[in-house]
Amino acid sequence: MIEVRNVTKTFGGLVAVDNCSLEVGSGSITGMIGPNGAGKSTLFNILAGFIPPSSGQILLDGRDITKLPPHKRFELGMVRTFQVPSELARMTALENLMLVPSDQSGESLLNAWFRPGRVRADEQRTRARAEEVLQTLELTHVRNELAGNLSGGQKKLLEIGRTMMTPAKVVLLDEPGAGVNRTLMGKITEVIRRLNREHGYTFCIIEHDMDLIAELCDPVIVMAQGTVLTQGTMDEIRKNEDVLEAYFGG
Ligand code: ADP
Ligand code: MG
Repeated sequence: MIEVRNVTKTFGGLVAVDNCSLEVGSGSITGMIGPNGAGKSTLFNILAGFIPPSSGQILLDGRDITKLPPHKRFELGMVRTFQVPSELARMTALENLMLVPSDQSGESLLNAWFRPGRVRADEQRTRARAEEVLQTLELTHVRNELAGNLSGGQKKLLEIGRTMMTPAKVVLLDEPGAGVNRTLMGKITEVIRRLNREHGYTFCIIEHDMDLIAELCDPVIVMAQGTVLTQGTMDEIRKNEDVLEAYFGG
């Protein structure tokens, strides 16, 4: 689904991503691990279109998207989750879901003016979908809570929920487990697995928590020094001496 071809990114003299090539298979939950400074976040930002690579290509479903801005990639179904932005912290969980940008006609003033019936129908559809997403995430009980008052884990779920309001095909998650307690971690894992199995979402996940990676991801790609060191199942990777060396070596 995603193909990274010979991507390099330099910041001044520093090579953050070094001639890196990898694939994220359609329907997979691909994990990405590696020591600090390996280039994972930089690669994610290149995938999402926030920073351009110095050289190399990014393909989505065989199409070269290297030069497309983030919103075009979003329209093609590649979505990156974000922390709930501060301006949305003062809106409820339900409103946060309903406000996810889409092509609903309610956003068009002309439509609102000339076709109010259609706008109402769209808004009802969006609301119904938002309620459905809240139910899937078991967040219905906090639907009218301000997003800023949710726990860290509930915010993470809401972030994932926002991707569910879009026509996402592949979701990029940067450390979904960071700062989340064990119980909610279990819920996040379950939601990711369900979206993958039942809704056909492909995931690419950067995560430090090896338990979460082991439980969810296949394959797991290990990055070190800006490029792919190895890839395989978590069991294979745990036995790989080079990986230990990359994490703990000098
Ligand atoms: P990871 O996410 O695997 O820890 P990063 O992609 O954040 O790695 O960083 C890779 C390397 O690139 C690091 O040496 C980091 O200091 C450097 N780096 C990342 N972003 C920038 C930037 N905007 N400017 C300069 N150096 C950067
Ligand atoms: Mg990082």
